[in-house]
Amino acid sequence: MENVKVVKGDITKCEVDAIVNAANTSLLGGGGVDGAIHRTAGPQLLEACKKLNGCSTGDAKITGGFNLPARYVIHTVGPVWRGGNNGEEDLLKSAYQRSLEVAEEGSLDKVAFPNISTGIYGFPKEKAAKIAISIVKEFMSKHKYPSEVIFVCFDDDNYLLYQRQLEK
Ligand code: ADP
Repeated sequence: MENVKVVKGDITKCEVDAIVNAANTSLLGGGGVDGAIHRTAGPQLLEACKKLNGCSTGDAKITGGFNLPARYVIHTVGPVWRGGNNGEEDLLKSAYQRSLEVAEEGSLDKVAFPNISTGIYGFPKEKAAKIAISIVKEFMSKHKYPSEVIFVCFDDDNYLLYQRQLEK
C-alpha cells in the first residue's frame, strides 16, 4: 500500500504531523525511544506530560512536539510481554488503535510509529509487526486521517520484518 511506508532510522528526526512515543504509564520519561524523544523535544515535553496524569496500558494521549521536527507527540503505552497469556496482543492492538484515533481526532495527516513494545518490553517482533500493520491498514481504510503512516524501525530485525510484511 502506497500510504503505508517503512524506513530505518531515528523517529526523533521525522518531520511529520505526529510521532508516536512508546512511553510507560507514568508518561514521565524512560529509556529507549521515550528517552530519545524527551531529550530532543526538551524539558517542555516533560512539563506537558505531567499535566496528563499518566496513561493506561493500551491508551494514548497527545502533547505538542516542542523542539522536535514533529508538531505533536502521541504518547501510548504498549504492554510488557509476560509470556503471551496476559492480554498482551489485545493491549498492543489497543495501543495502535488508540494512537490512530487520537491522530484522527486531531485531523493529523502524517504519523510515524516506532515498533511499540519490541524493545525493553520484550514483545516478539514478528507478532508485533503483524499486529501493527493490520491495525494500521484497517484503520486507514475506514478513516480520512491519518492519510500516511510511516513505520520507523530502529533495528535491522524490525526493518526486515516490516519490509517483508508490507510487500504482501
Ligand atoms: P518499549 O518499552 O515499548 O519496548 P523501547 O523504546 O524499549 O520501548 O523500544 C521500542 C522500539 O523503539 C524498539 O524497537 C527500539 O529499537 C526502538 N527505538 C529505540 N530508539 C529509537 C529511536 N530513536 N527511533 C525509533 N525507534 C527507536
